[in-house]
Amino acid sequence: MDGRAAINPYQMAVTQFEEAADRLNLPEDMRAILRMPKRELAVNFPVRMDNGSVKVYTGYRVQHNINRGPAKGGIRYDANVSLDEVRALAMWMTWKCAVVDIPFGGAKGGVIVDPKKLSATEVERLTRRYATEISILIGPNSDIPAPDVNTSAREMGWIMDTYSMHHGYSVPAVVTGKPLAIGGSEGRNEATATGAVAVLKMAANERKVPIRDMRVAVQGFGNAGSISAELLHGDGARIVAVSDRQGSIYNKDGLDIPAVVRFKAQHKTVVGFGGAEKLGPQDVLTVACDALIPAATEGQITETNARKVQAQFVIEAANGPTTPEADRILFERDIVVVPDILANAGGVTVSYFEWVQDLQSFFWSDDEIHQKLAVIMARAYDNVARLARENTCDMRTAANMLAIGRVAEATTMRGVYP
Ligand code: NAD
Repeated sequence: MDGRAAINPYQMAVTQFEEAADRLNLPEDMRAILRMPKRELAVNFPVRMDNGSVKVYTGYRVQHNINRGPAKGGIRYDANVSLDEVRALAMWMTWKCAVVDIPFGGAKGGVIVDPKKLSATEVERLTRRYATEISILIGPNSDIPAPDVNTSAREMGWIMDTYSMHHGYSVPAVVTGKPLAIGGSEGRNEATATGAVAVLKMAANERKVPIRDMRVAVQGFGNAGSISAELLHGDGARIVAVSDRQGSIYNKDGLDIPAVVRFKAQHKTVVGFGGAEKLGPQDVLTVACDALIPAATEGQITETNARKVQAQFVIEAANGPTTPEADRILFERDIVVVPDILANAGGVTVSYFEWVQDLQSFFWSDDEIHQKLAVIMARAYDNVARLARENTCDMRTAANMLAIGRVAEATTMRGVYP
């Protein structure tokens, strides 16, 4: 039980929004515009299974706000997807793009499905049909999807191809996170983790805590979590615990992360890895460590476990892992929480680079991507840390103030149509 059922992510997102809006003295008219998603599409669509039967799936695409540019946001395949989850994730995308100051609005998509129970051909048919259903919204100038939980470059390639087939020519800029061979970007696969590690280093530097030998626990061992663990392991940190849906593994001296990655590739889980103690799925959040990286899903650090968190840094690679009640507890305990909209913004930043490269059909080197990403993450971190100090508030509220202020300004400049 991950506690998610009891937590409504959209209510969480609205609570966070109101807190920052109060501090900004945002007028009620503006709050009313920014609180609600602009567009919500629900689709029910049939997919042919390998055995010839047909199953109907439900999916969503929500655009929260597009005042600063086209909508941008990932697509999630998960049995727990709900409209309120997609709404929350879309709203967080709006603020995330504004925090790092890239010219996108926020969106998100999801399909209620456990893709691990489907064959690759079934996932492909589901992806192509879902892409067709939401093609009334997506496009390189309107709404650009990307990978999220249980989707990857493979699904983005299918969406790009489906959209391109409908148009009769290649439209690479319709999605980001694609394979390199069809217009993907260098650095996109590891971008979310690269950004998360960069903000951990900046936060640790402020408290004069070295990365070498730092004890780190990582919840979730997918794109965001496993690559964060690999990068930090490479920097000499001790990754003492990692987890996935099946459970956590712990070794106080540090796990051999490249070996855990190989084990996971073979066994589809980290559980069972030799030389580590097996713990319950939620135990990763409360082990003795210096930095905790939630990289799984929403609503993981709650008022019931926030007092047991032992880390002094919480770096939110996942979206929405900490509830507002837990935020208050962590702030009182002087634990630094680098919030999702900043900590995992490396992903959307390199997605932006990918989109720009696709539009101009001119591609950049890995070095160029990493340099540009580092500049953007450092600037965003500094801006948020300064605002937090000036307002004596946590970094989430500061990041939301910065982001909501920018979106509100764009909304004011554009005016209310007609
Ligand atoms: P993924 O599908 O690659 O990996 C998800 C991992 O989390 C898996 O190891 C899964 O077993 C684990 N997991 C799921 N539920 C869990 C639970 N309740 N307890 C423990 N482990 C659990 O997904 P991802 O792309 O790495 O995304 C993870 C998080 O990072 C999500 O919140 C996502 O929105 C966020 N994020 C991802 C990106 C990106 O570029 N992929 C960008 C920004 C934010």
